[in-house]
Amino acid sequence: MDLWRRLRDMYRNARVRRKVAEHVEGSDLFYKLGIEITSACNYRCPFCPQSKSARPEAYMSFSSVSLIVEQLVALRYAGEISLSVTNEPFCHPRCLEFAGLISKKLPKCNLRFNSNGSLIDKIILDGLHGISTPFIAQINDYTGGRELSRLGGLLSGYDAEFQSRFILKRRSFGERLSTRGGAAQSRRRRDYFGDFDCLLPYFRMDIGTDGSVILCCADYRYQMAFGNIHTAALKDIWNSEEFRELRRTLFRGKRRSVSLCSRCDMAAPGLPQWLTGSSSA
Ligand code: SF4
Repeated sequence: MDLWRRLRDMYRNARVRRKVAEHVEGSDLFYKLGIEITSACNYRCPFCPQSKSARPEAYMSFSSVSLIVEQLVALRYAGEISLSVTNEPFCHPRCLEFAGLISKKLPKCNLRFNSNGSLIDKIILDGLHGISTPFIAQINDYTGGRELSRLGGLLSGYDAEFQSRFILKRRSFGERLSTRGGAAQSRRRRDYFGDFDCLLPYFRMDIGTDGSVILCCADYRYQMAFGNIHTAALKDIWNSEEFRELRRTLFRGKRRSVSLCSRCDMAAPGLPQWLTGSSSA
């Protein structure tokens, strides 16, 4: 890591902290939500925790997804809903049904899928085509372009607007991505990221297959749960003192005192332009 890049990241981090203090600290609701509808993935990419210690396969029930959706309707939620966390969403046989439910009940939300693309066929594309909610499907191809050309061929039968919802990316098994709370291999030296803020829990909530509201999308084994959708309201969990204290800890740059965060190299990821003043933080 060269000095210039390190200084640039420190500057960005300080700027984002200021913005968060101004805009987000007082927010009482998330605007990104990850629902891990299944823990399954049909790939074992070397940079992903699934490759070393895959979790038992679990599938969220339709009633659990409905429970979440009903609460979001009551909260007039209009943010992003991702059906991907550390999984392949199309491994869940009811993925399309969930997307249809969200589309019907929460038409102002944006849906997101991160997928390796291998399970997407014409039936799934037809189902997605029938969804009225805006959605983005990022397809990460790890087959040297084979899945991309297969999908490109399938997509050519649809209108341009539908095609534009698919972000097709050629990726590599050799990539080193985030450590994801220490569950995956390291990308950076520990002393580089040790004291950086992570502001993810200020704006994003993640729900595991069992209904646990977990620390973040890097909490692969649901080690830090702040409540469960089956026993508490989403908003109450989000605003619980325990969750707020965790955010304050991270905001102060004390990530070393949080077990998962001390092994994680993520820092203020995915913040939107209105908050950072740039397209990526
Ligand atoms: S630093 Fe902590 S809160 Fe942030 S992504 Fe990593 S594990 Fe999650």
